Amino acid sequence: MGFNIILLGPPGAGKGTQAKLLIKRYRIPQISTGDILRTAVKEQTRSGVRAKEFMDKGALVPDDLVIEIIKDRLSMPDSTAGFILDGFPRTVAQADALAIMLKSDDKSIDHVISITVDNEELVQRVIGRLTCRGCGRGYHLRFDPPVEKGVCNACGSELYQRDDDKEETMRARLLTYESQTAPLIQYYSTLGLLRPVDGLGSIHDINESLAQVLER
Ligand code: ADP
Ligand code: ADP
Ligand code: ZN
Repeated sequence: MGFNIILLGPPGAGKGTQAKLLIKRYRIPQISTGDILRTAVKEQTRSGVRAKEFMDKGALVPDDLVIEIIKDRLSMPDSTAGFILDGFPRTVAQADALAIMLKSDDKSIDHVISITVDNEELVQRVIGRLTCRGCGRGYHLRFDPPVEKGVCNACGSELYQRDDDKEETMRARLLTYESQTAPLIQYYSTLGLLRPVDGLGSIHDINESLAQVLER
């Protein structure tokens, strides 16, 4: 079995946290459309300017924009041994586009890990989330605090609270997830690729469950 992996789950499920642990374990890259978009917003590139209004509302950025980002990213040479898609695909149109892209390279998805957590826990996680400006690693004020307040353990950069991690925007993102992304659970289940994982529990224990699923 290969290591072309999708991490699927609502905002706050732990996709980014688990991706960071898996990339160390398997030495494959994490490809996060959220991270790439936030960098584009910060740098005020043309796609960044276009994406910002959607992100601020808790809506999805248009498919064509993210599909283009993924096409560019997957064409880089570091993903030949595998990759972890974190936050992509998020619509059926994106999933279809991904399948076509991979097929033209003689590749396919091996596992879709679907991480489930109840909505109230998701809100608590997201409103307490701190994100590293340097490497994008997530922390939590209470559940996973950094060793030194406000500073990333991994790279020493400053931690900040994302604009869209306010409770109101988070509630909008949960609705967006339900209507546009949750249908992918059925989509990948039909293809026999879905690997459901319970996202409640310690970060370490969940990582062990993921590794078990991937190495089965
Ligand atoms: P996602 O990428 O799915 O949006 P993150 O990995 O950024 O989610 O996690 C969201 C927040 O929850 C972060 O603040 C993170 O530190 C925290 N978190 C992640 N996994 C757990 C867990 N198993 N238990 C408690 N908090 C967690
Ligand atoms: P989270 O895991 O907490 O939901 P992300 O960092 O993955 O957050 O995404 C942040 C925002 O970036 C999303 O709310 C959405 O506006 C945009 N975004 C990220 N990935 C995609 C995608 N695949 N399609 C459309 N919009 C996306
Ligand atoms: Zn960092």
